[in-house]
Amino acid sequence: MTERYDAVVIGTGQAGPSLAVRLAQAGRKTAIVERKRIGGTCVNNGCVPTKTLIASARTAYVARRASDYGVTIDAPIRVDMAAVKARKDAVVRHSTEGITRWLGSTPGLVTIEGHARFESPRTVRVGNRMLEADQFFINVGGRALVPDMPGRDEVPYYTNSNIMDVDFLPEHLLIVGGSYIGLEFAQMYRRFGSRVTVVEMGPRLIAREDDEVSAAIKEILEAEGIAFRLNAKCVALEPRSNGISINVSCDEEPREISGSHLLLAVGRVPNTADLGLDKAGVSTDARGYIQVDEQLRTSVPGIWALGDANGRGAFTHTSYNDFEIVAANVLDGESRKVSDRIPTYALFIDPPLGRAGMTEREIRAAGRRALVATMPMTRVGRAFERGETQGFMKVLVDPDSQCILGASLLGIEGDEVVHSLLDAMYAGAPYTVIRRAMHIHPTVAEFIPTLLGGLKPLA
Ligand SMILES: Cc1cc2nc3c(=O)[nH]c(=O)nc-3n(C[C@H](O)[C@H](O)[C@H](O)COP(=O)(O)OP(=O)(O)OC[C@H]3O[C@@H](n4cnc5c(N)ncnc54)[C@H](O)[C@@H]3O)c2cc1C
Repeated sequence: MTERYDAVVIGTGQAGPSLAVRLAQAGRKTAIVERKRIGGTCVNNGCVPTKTLIASARTAYVARRASDYGVTIDAPIRVDMAAVKARKDAVVRHSTEGITRWLGSTPGLVTIEGHARFESPRTVRVGNRMLEADQFFINVGGRALVPDMPGRDEVPYYTNSNIMDVDFLPEHLLIVGGSYIGLEFAQMYRRFGSRVTVVEMGPRLIAREDDEVSAAIKEILEAEGIAFRLNAKCVALEPRSNGISINVSCDEEPREISGSHLLLAVGRVPNTADLGLDKAGVSTDARGYIQVDEQLRTSVPGIWALGDANGRGAFTHTSYNDFEIVAANVLDGESRKVSDRIPTYALFIDPPLGRAGMTEREIRAAGRRALVATMPMTRVGRAFERGETQGFMKVLVDPDSQCILGASLLGIEGDEVVHSLLDAMYAGAPYTVIRRAMHIHPTVAEFIPTLLGGLKPLA
């Protein structure tokens, strides 16, 4: 028998639950479908657990450095991985239970467990239930890309999902992929006490960032004992009696690196191949991302796509912003669009990288003129006082409008301080507003006006 709804939301990622609740509160009979765990990637095996694990890793790091601060710890620092995992599980449980309760207690909203698949533009099958609705909102997210590299099926490997089950210390963790996810795990496991080697196919880490950001991050992580193998052009995996070996290069020595465990962190793919999109007539691009317009409408009227699966963002905040855009347009009679938002994100190594707007590379590629200012964190009093002076701050400004084009803040609190620049960008204010602002001493943010005082033409 067909069940009739006004709206069906597929997936409980970072957009789906908020949207389903808003739809139900607006009096629309709504169903939300989830095939795995309520809360999706961020809550179960993305942001929430990684940042929780990073907090444990940082505690171990600070404890080992205690004597630098005149604090004596009269015992070796040990990391109890089972306790670390238990703490992470409790934090994740707190989030998933909260979302489950929220959905369950919303009148007019039904949560359905199972895999949703379109049968037509207006019907979705979940097991033996058929759901019919006027509006569908797809929030199916993505999963780790497991590339078809030689030897892949002969070795055990982790992705960001199953590494969440680890409750022991890997002796030597090999990580294929030197970008955001790989580097967060690299520093985390190094601080837990593992040997860590990162294998990256490109000539530098996190290729999307400016060269000096990549170089500084490599230096920071190397100082903690993480080994890197860049330009690993022909990666092949092989089992060994005590672990895994990776053939990293066809010509450069050493050609092979061995370790006890392997994490693949080479990118993400959207969960769209098994959604029956062809039956609904929803178009995707060559990589499987659902094609959407500025208001996140797909090629089929009445079907929207939100979150990572639409290829317009790959973060929790972009997915949540997708919810806000769709809710504003569908429920509030507003006209919001994706291009209103400014790209922003952080890399949560320690110290973190906070990013907003364009990189220098993007500015140059666009042929734009810019003013640039940089400041090493050694000049920031707060960083000095904390004994954490790694990194630098960089800001780029349009010389004509005086508006901020972009910022890369690699240093303590960089993920927080970047919002001072981001909000000025949203306000469309010239940089001189912050240049003349009085900030609190002693903070990292107090140096943003000083940083802006050093702007020079980009060579
Ligand atoms: C290790 C890691 C760390 C990260 N850290 C950060 C961070 O610090 N900050 C940040 O902003 N972002 C981070 N991200 C990215 C962030 O997790 C995602 O961008 C975010 O979860 C948004 O995802 P989403 O809303 O598109 O869907 P997801 O969270 O991926 O959820 C989609 C849901 O849909 C379900 N689903 C899929 N197909 C179907 C179907 N056919 N039927 C029913 N249900 C289905 C899935 O089971 C899943 O629960 C991280 C990601 C990873 C992997």
